[in-house]
Amino acid sequence: MPELPEVETTRRGIAPALGHATPQKAVVRQPRLRWPVDSDALQRWCGAPINTIQRRSKYLILSNDKGHLLIHLGMSGSLRVLPQDTPAQKHDHIDLLLDNSHLLRYTDPRRFGAWLVHFDTDPLTHPLLSQLGPEPLSEAFNGDHLYAACQKSRRAIKVLIMDSKVVVGVGNIYANEALFLAGIHPATPANTLTPAQTDTLAATIKQVLARAIEQGGTTLQDFTQPDGKPGYFAQQLNVYGHAGKPCPRCGTPIQILTLGQRSSFFCPRCQPV
Ligand SMILES: [Zn+2]
Repeated sequence: MPELPEVETTRRGIAPALGHATPQKAVVRQPRLRWPVDSDALQRWCGAPINTIQRRSKYLILSNDKGHLLIHLGMSGSLRVLPQDTPAQKHDHIDLLLDNSHLLRYTDPRRFGAWLVHFDTDPLTHPLLSQLGPEPLSEAFNGDHLYAACQKSRRAIKVLIMDSKVVVGVGNIYANEALFLAGIHPATPANTLTPAQTDTLAATIKQVLARAIEQGGTTLQDFTQPDGKPGYFAQQLNVYGHAGKPCPRCGTPIQILTLGQRSSFFCPRCQPV
């Protein structure tokens, strides 16, 4: 599933070809995504040059003077910029034809993604965006913010950092990895963490996400290749998916438990209860 680093990598991959291009027409072959694609609204949004391509949480926001196009990649979505004569394949559900002889193509085998048009001056007023917590790589997310959120909750710390009202974009992989690097057991009740621990955890969350975005940078050329699988890249992980394997720090076998219906991987020695 595309997580925040993959979405940010996608933004960086498509931005050079999209910036200041004008979408002329949308071709919707399959409107049944997570929510029905409003083809009429999409056509009305076309016709003005794209000014900015931003990311908020896992949403890409393409903005022009008419409004905003919000794109979510869901479970299996990807975007590429291709020449307009590139034949569409089975799961290529939407094309945005640009005035520079290219198109933005959306591919999504499982169709859990979203294409939503928002006609407002501020894209962040959209209901899906208006309630979100801070971006993990912004200054607004820091140890103090995390400590304040922890004080109000007895939930397991891993569940808390995956709550988009606390901080956006910390998916399961990154929550596991950040807690390992911080030496914090994933089931620790949030309100028992010290300010020093929340400082460390905020820092390791930033570290794992920034490193993943850096690794994604090696795949940017895939966004203009017809046969590429853009936005997905191999990562070096310490604990995620490593149940039974030795901890890279101390050699103790990594254990697994379920928290909030998600698998949690941890080293019982490096991350004591
Ligand atoms: Zn260990």
